[in-house]
Amino acid sequence: KKPQARKGSMTDVPQELLNEIHGFQKDFTVDADTLKAITKNFITELDKGLSKKGGNIPMIPGWVMQYPTGKESGDYLAIDLGGTNLRVILVKLGGDRTFDSTQSKYKLPDELRTTKNRDELFAFIADSLDNFIKEQFPNGVSKNLPLGFTFSYPASQDKINEGILQRWTKGFDIPNVEGHDVVQLLQEQLTKKSIPVDVVALINDTVGTLVASLYTDGETKMGVIFGTGVNGAYYDTCKDIEKLQGRLPDDIPGDSLMAVNCEYGSFDNEHVVLPRNRFDIQIDNESPRPGQQAFEKMTSGYYLGELLRLALLESYNKGLIFKGQDVSKLEKPYIMDTSVPSRVEDDPFENLENTDEIFTKELGINTTVPERKLIRALCELIGTRSARVASCGVAGICQKRGYKTGHIAADGSVYNRYPGFKEAVAEGLRAIYGWEKADPSTYPITTVAAEDGSGAGAAIIAALTQDRLAAGKS
Ligand code: BGC
Ligand code: MG
Repeated sequence: KKPQARKGSMTDVPQELLNEIHGFQKDFTVDADTLKAITKNFITELDKGLSKKGGNIPMIPGWVMQYPTGKESGDYLAIDLGGTNLRVILVKLGGDRTFDSTQSKYKLPDELRTTKNRDELFAFIADSLDNFIKEQFPNGVSKNLPLGFTFSYPASQDKINEGILQRWTKGFDIPNVEGHDVVQLLQEQLTKKSIPVDVVALINDTVGTLVASLYTDGETKMGVIFGTGVNGAYYDTCKDIEKLQGRLPDDIPGDSLMAVNCEYGSFDNEHVVLPRNRFDIQIDNESPRPGQQAFEKMTSGYYLGELLRLALLESYNKGLIFKGQDVSKLEKPYIMDTSVPSRVEDDPFENLENTDEIFTKELGINTTVPERKLIRALCELIGTRSARVASCGVAGICQKRGYKTGHIAADGSVYNRYPGFKEAVAEGLRAIYGWEKADPSTYPITTVAAEDGSGAGAAIIAALTQDRLAAGKS
């Protein structure tokens, strides 16, 4: 697909709307010096997170203690509990850095995100698995299948097959799961329903992405997600993770590697360095978890449509746009997901007719060309800010670890589908590092589209775990 011109003529936009756009530019633009300041603070906070005392960023040891060798082999199940779908995947690891996978997607019923009964969530996962296994193994299985469970929420782990949910993110809100081990909750339902599966590993999506990409690309330095949520993982050395002192099994030497799930979506929960504007503050105040995930709330897909909605409502309330129209749909929180700004940015600039269609059909609002140009300008500002601020997480880890070059394996709906996002991340990194402007693929540190972390990654980690256990290691 040909990239669209991202800028168009603004000569037909009246002065009062141009002024409005300039105002939004001030609200959403983050200059290079601010990006550098954020990155600097990021490094301090990453270190705090590794300390015994801890900090805002959880820095959770993921108990994956080696790089994949590429020789991992066998059949594994993996599940990925994402924001909107549950994916069940059967992965056949070839033992030669190749893999094959077959998957099914099950739509998470909307009410499950906030059900009052946690067992409904885990029963839904168990039933979906049952369904998938019956399809894939019509003659049954001779022994329990090992499963890697990708759970993309902050979960503390003292070993690989446990995950105690610290807190829900991305709008999930189910009681009695925070503080509990989700591996146990799932295994209980599997056992109750006699489903032949052993949950052998709990994996954060970022750790899965890191490991899956390392399986095929030795230059991989981090696994990152720019999706509904935002987060990154990297390998550190056990002895440099102060809070592991006294928690490491005796047979693990201090110079072993340890994959760390940073959970850096919670960076700057204290609101010291991120340039939050009034819309960010409103989103935070009205969220089910105020004061949490400050970095994520400015950068991740869950919030981009909401930022757009709040900004447009403000202009409407000033009497500048959508004059005399019924905006009751636009007044509904979270009515627009990221696909709205993403489709607006995909719209050929000329008359922005697709944008018109989105607003008419989905929001019941008729738009004029100048209004659509304001909408488009806002989307560009929101998307670009997201990418630039999110790039500070990547730069923070790379600077902390002293990585001068390498591949950042990236996944997530925003990275894969938001027009111009990849380029804006590259531009953010360039601004932070002060590299000469060039073809972004030649920059020393580049993001690359990751291998399927929640499928292949989870399977490889399950295989690594079984190999360790077979070798009598903890
Ligand atoms: C979660 C992380 C996850 C990220 C990307 C965040 O909301 O806390 O565990 O890695 O989203 O999915
Ligand atoms: Mg996901």
